[in-house]
Amino acid sequence: MVFGKHINRYYLKHLFALLLGLVSLVAVDYFQLKIPELYRMVINGANEGVVDVGGTIVQFDMDFVWEHICKPMFLIIVIMVVGRFMWRMCFLGSGIKVERDLRQRMFDHCKDLSLQYYHRNKVGNLMSLFTNDIETVQECFSWGILQACDIVFLGGMAIAKMFMMDWVLALLSLIPMAFLVTIGIIVGKYLTIKWDARQAAFSDLSDFAQESFSGVAVIKAFVKEFKELWAFQKLNRKNENANIAYTKLSVTLHVCVSLFIESTIAIILGYGGYLVHEKVFDAGMLMEFIGYFNSIIWPMMAITEMIDMSSRGKASLNRVSELLDTKQDVADKPTAQPIDGVKGQIEFKNLTFVYPDGDYDALSNVSFNINAGELVGVVGKTGSGKTTVADIILRCYNVPDGTVFVDGKDVNDITIDSLRDYCAYVPQDNFLFSDTISANIAFATDDADQSDIEKYAGLADVHGNIVEFSNGYETILGERGVTLSGGQKQRVSIARALIKDAPILILDDSVSAVDTNTEKIILQNLRNTRQGKTTLLIAHRISTVQDLDKIILLDDGKVVDVGTHQELLSRCHEYKVMVELQKLDDEKKGDN
Ligand code: ADP
Repeated sequence: MVFGKHINRYYLKHLFALLLGLVSLVAVDYFQLKIPELYRMVINGANEGVVDVGGTIVQFDMDFVWEHICKPMFLIIVIMVVGRFMWRMCFLGSGIKVERDLRQRMFDHCKDLSLQYYHRNKVGNLMSLFTNDIETVQECFSWGILQACDIVFLGGMAIAKMFMMDWVLALLSLIPMAFLVTIGIIVGKYLTIKWDARQAAFSDLSDFAQESFSGVAVIKAFVKEFKELWAFQKLNRKNENANIAYTKLSVTLHVCVSLFIESTIAIILGYGGYLVHEKVFDAGMLMEFIGYFNSIIWPMMAITEMIDMSSRGKASLNRVSELLDTKQDVADKPTAQPIDGVKGQIEFKNLTFVYPDGDYDALSNVSFNINAGELVGVVGKTGSGKTTVADIILRCYNVPDGTVFVDGKDVNDITIDSLRDYCAYVPQDNFLFSDTISANIAFATDDADQSDIEKYAGLADVHGNIVEFSNGYETILGERGVTLSGGQKQRVSIARALIKDAPILILDDSVSAVDTNTEKIILQNLRNTRQGKTTLLIAHRISTVQDLDKIILLDDGKVVDVGTHQELLSRCHEYKVMVELQKLDDEKKGDN
C-alpha cells in the first residue's frame, strides 16, 4: 500500500468498492482455510475408517465423502472463484481509476506550470512520470491493498488455527518467518534507493532518445550518428546496470524467502513427525497443520513483496507529488480581474527583468509606449531582449507591479487568461502540431471554417504552397511539421496567428526564413488587415521593419531609441551602424 497527500483521498473515494473487495477477500480467505480440515478428515478416515466431526465419531464411507468432503469442497470452490473475481474487479478496477484520475490531475497541473518549469525539466523526465511512475503507484495501490488484507486476514486466521492446534509447533514455524520479515524490511529500504536510481536512469535514457529523434536532422547533417549511438549505448548500459542492481537485490530477497520457507517446512516435518510419534497429533492433523502453514506462505511472502512494492510506490509517488506540488509560479493575483475589449495599447515603464534562473538583467530599465493600432518593429542583436519583451507581454513570466500596462491597466491586475485571449503569437520556433494543415491553422479559434482558413493562409502567402500538396489543407504534418520547409512552417504559423484576429499580434522573428518578395507581400497584408490593431514585429533585418509606424531598438536589454526609421537614422548612431552593416551584408550577398 502507498500513502501520501496525493493518494489518500482515493482510499475514501473508492471506499465502497474497496470494502466490497475486502468482504470478498475475507470470504475467500475464510473458506480457503476450511480445505486443510477436509484433508485431515480424508487422511484420518482412510487410515482409521472413522472421522471425528466436531466431537462426533462418524463412519468414513462414500456417503460421508460426498456429504462432508465433496459437497463442501464444491461450495468452497464456487465461493473462491466468485470471491476472487469480485476482489480483483474491486481492487484492480479502483487502481485503474486512480491511475486515470492521477494522470488527469498531473496533466491538468502541467498546463498551468510556467515556461520556466519546462526549461528546467526535460520532456523525457516528464514522460516517465506519466508512464512508469504512475503505473507503479497504481500497482502499489491496488495490489498493495490486496496484500495488506491477505497478510492481516489470511495470515491472522491461519496463524490462530496453527496456535490452536499446537502452540509450540506454531511458534517454531513462525520464528524463521519473523527473521524473514525483518530481513525484508531492511532490504526494502535499499530497494527504494535502487528503484530511484533505476527510474532516474530510465528517465535519462528516454530524455536522450526523445532529443535524438527531435534533432535527427542536425545529427545527420553533422554525420554524428555514431557519436549519438555511443552516447545512447552509455546511457543504455547505465540503465541496464541500475536494473541489474535492483533485480539482484530483489532476487536475493526472494531467494531468502524460499530458503526460510523450506527450512520451516523441515522444522514442521521434524517436530510434527515427533508429535505424531508421541500420539499428540495424528497424520491427518499434521496434514492440516501443513495446510495452514501453506496458507501463511503467501501472506508472509506478501510482507516482503509489499515492502518491496511500497518502496517502489513511495519513490514513484514522491516524484509524482513533486510535480503536483510544484507551485504555479506565474499565476493571477487574487485581486486580478478579467480584461474586456482590449484596444492594444502597451506600455513598459522602467522594467528591469531577470529570468527566474538568470544571473543578469535580461531587460534593464526598459520603457516604451506602443499606441493601440500601431505596427511596431522590435530590432536588436541576438540576446538583446526582443523575445523577452514578447514573453512578458504574453505574461509568461512575473513582472513587478507598475512596470507593464495594457490599455493603461497594470498587467498584474488583469487575469492572465483574459489577457492572452486578446493576443496572438507567432513563436520563434514555429511549433506545429502533428495534425492536418487545416487543423493547425484553425487551432487559434473555435469557429473557423474552411474559407477562413484559406483566407488567412492566403494572407500569410502560403495558400499557393498548400494547394500544391496532393492532400492540400488535409496534409498531415509529421512531428513538428517536418514535411514543410522552414519558410512554409513560418507562414503556416503566421496564418494560425492571423486567424485569431486579436487586438495584439506578436510575430517573433517570423519572416526570417522567407525570401524578400514573400516578406514584402506578408508585410503588406499585415498592414492592410491589421488596421486599428496592434502588431509587434520582432526582426533582425532592418528592411523588415523600416516602413513600420515605430521601431524599438534594443541592445543588451536596454532600449537604445524608439522612433520611425527616418528619426532613428537621423539621430541614433547605433541604428545607423546597424543599417550600414546590413547594407554591406546585403551587397556582399548580392555580389556572391
Ligand atoms: P533575443 O530575442 O533578442 O535574441 P532574448 O530575449 O531571447 O534575446 O534573451 C535575452 C537574454 O535573456 C539573453 O541573454 C538570454 O541568454 C537570456 N535568456 C533568455 N531566456 C532565458 C531563460 N529562460 N532563462 C534565463 N535566461 C534567459
